[in-house]
Amino acid sequence: MTATTLSAPASLSIWDAANSADARRPRSVQRQLGASDTICSRRAGYILAGTERTNAGDKRAAILGTYIHQGLLEDARREYGWLTERTVADGTLRGHIDVVQLDAATAARLPKRHRPAEPAAHLTVEDVKTKSSRVWDRVVRFGPTAAEMRQVLLYADLLRTVGFADVPGQRYLHRLGPIDVQRIRFRFVCRDTGEEHIEEFVFDEWLAAQARWWVDRVVEADSPEELRRDHDGPGLSVICDNCPFVHSCWPGVPPGRPAQTILVHDDEDRAKALADYVRAHERFREAKRVKEMARAMLDDSPEGNYGDNHLGWGGGNDKEESDVAAMVELFEDADLVVPMVPDEKAMIQILRRAGMVVPRRKAAGQKTARTIKVSRARKTS
Ligand code: SF4
Repeated sequence: MTATTLSAPASLSIWDAANSADARRPRSVQRQLGASDTICSRRAGYILAGTERTNAGDKRAAILGTYIHQGLLEDARREYGWLTERTVADGTLRGHIDVVQLDAATAARLPKRHRPAEPAAHLTVEDVKTKSSRVWDRVVRFGPTAAEMRQVLLYADLLRTVGFADVPGQRYLHRLGPIDVQRIRFRFVCRDTGEEHIEEFVFDEWLAAQARWWVDRVVEADSPEELRRDHDGPGLSVICDNCPFVHSCWPGVPPGRPAQTILVHDDEDRAKALADYVRAHERFREAKRVKEMARAMLDDSPEGNYGDNHLGWGGGNDKEESDVAAMVELFEDADLVVPMVPDEKAMIQILRRAGMVVPRRKAAGQKTARTIKVSRARKTS
């Protein structure tokens, strides 16, 4: 049997379907604050204010994360009987907890057919997070970010104060009322290797109150613009680059200039930014010195675990470059025309050797990169 090649429209990308489906997900359109929206105060403010979403951003990595997340949770539900994707809500917040592991005392209050096969030692709220290998080392070393911690604390707090939401499919859980969450757990999964890393914390009421206070500040604000931008803005933060409200948050940016220029209004702002620059440069200089010293000291050390860290070596391979002579031969064998474009580098060398000035002209529409020069302010007499 021979395979028939069917032509598909060249413009059709499978991502068009994925983006359209994602835009319809409740999370993408809801006006109520999701606990996962607490990544930035101002962004949370825009959601509550119903501000128009004008930036689609690049959601491909997030969508892949959603697919993996859904698959893992569905299999854990089927194989282990875990309570997955359960809704919690109050007047302000609404979200879905990935996993709730019930302890024996709480499970015993459920009808027999709904009890987990193996109750947990502690009533635990679990969040499954997929991460790329680019950030995996940071995840393993430092665990959840402050925003991730806030999200799970809010989920746990909703369970402790309200219980499961009264929605179809979980009415038997709602009837439990508020439940005594004792632990929160992060289950990180690397999107590229499948590696799994777990971090668990005892539920801390004071930290939960802090997370709640964060939400209350957002709710109390008269407008989103009163709220802090928790990220550095487009071009410097990938969260802002993909934020649906980036245009409302960074308005009136002059063309060709960084968005952050709108933060400087007067000489006082300039003085503060310069002071930040000098301080950061000093810290960077010292950190660079320490890093270079440590790198030099380790140069002949074998790979292995030392204390909290693993030493590995990469690189050291032969570099490859284009073999122009072989390419010319290939071109000639294939009856192709060998390009005779002037070789700029060689011409400059020849002119310099002959003691002639190399002619220069302005490159149309191109500018050299602007460099900042900061030194001590001169005293005026
Ligand atoms: S653009 Fe950045 S700072 Fe502004 S709301 Fe969005 S995430 Fe927050």
